[in-house]
Formats: sequence, C-alpha cells, structure tokens
Amino acid sequence: MSLERILAAIRDVPDFPKPGILFKDITPALEDAEVFRLINDLFAERYAGKGIEKVVGIDARGFILGAALADRLGAGFVPIRKKGKLPSDSFEASYELEYGEATIEVHKDAIAPGQRVVLVDDLLATGGTAAAALDLLERLNADVVETAFLIELTFLAGREKLGERPIFAPIQY
Ligand code: AMP
Repeated sequence: MSLERILAAIRDVPDFPKPGILFKDITPALEDAEVFRLINDLFAERYAGKGIEKVVGIDARGFILGAALADRLGAGFVPIRKKGKLPSDSFEASYELEYGEATIEVHKDAIAPGQRVVLVDDLLATGGTAAAALDLLERLNADVVETAFLIELTFLAGREKLGERPIFAPIQY
C-alpha cells in the first residue's frame, strides 16, 4: 500500500534540532523517485477537479510538496516565506515558538480575492506556523479549500489551533 511505502521512507532523528525533539525527516522520501511520486499522487488525487487556482507552500519543505502539487493541478504557486526574504510589498504574521517568536510573510498581490487555494506544509506540529499562514491568507481574502500536511503529530494537538478549518494529513503519529 502506498501509505506504508511513504511511512517506511520517513526517518526518525532523535534530539534534532534540540534534545527531546523527535524530528521526522522526509528527505529519504524525497530522494526516492517512486516514493516522491506517491506523495505527489496522494495530494494531487485529493485536489484534482476542485478548482484550485493557487497552491501556497510554507517555507521551506512546504515549497517542495506545494510546487509539485501546483504543477500537477495546473495551478500557480505562492511561497509564504520567513521574514525578510520576499522582495515586494508583503503582509506579515508572527507566532510563538518554544523560545521567542517567528514571523512569516506573503506578497500582498500573490492571490486575488476569492481565489481558491490549498495551503501545504510537510508537517503539523503545534500548529503555530499553519495558523499564522492561514491568518495571512485571510488578509488576502483567499478562499482556503483545505490545509494539507503529509504528517500530523496528533499528540501536539496542533489541529485545535486551526479551529474548524479543514485539514488533510494522511500520515499521523
Ligand atoms: P508547528 O508550528 O509547531 O506546527 O511546526 C511546524 C513546522 O515545524 C513545520 O514546518 C515542520 O516542518 C517543522 N517541524 C516541527 N516539528 C517537527 C518535527 N518533529 N519533525 C519535523 N519537522 C518539524
């Protein structure tokens, strides 16, 4: 089954980037041509025919999965970047990290009001990043059809931070 093949290609790295964190490393899944295709199939099958006009990817692993999905759907790709990287007029949103704060940005003209979009990242942990990204998309008046993650760490309850907004997360720990 394809989900099992994808699962088998995700590597656990203990204590990265700091003690106590079990990092879910997707690079082995990306490096394997068949597994990478299975991941892209999974997302493309879910959103094909849904009228998606833009796929929005979160810096940085959301760019990999999001750009592949955009190409499959014939949609445009929009990056949400860490602060200071986008060259043109941007909206920004800040969120709490375990220590301190992070800020992400999106270009103000990246999405027309009412455009149908999917937001993509590799993994849902505490939900802070995705919640901030959804705030940015609300400011652009995007119609967010769903937020897609390859992986959800359910024990961190990140889903609760996203309220009623729909989530697709085929792999859950
Ligand atoms: P969060 O804002 O807590 O939901 O964190 C989500 C972001 O941090 C995603 O972009 C993930 O790539 C990354 N991340 C958080 N925890 C992990 C983990 N245990 N393994 C891999 N990536 C993680």
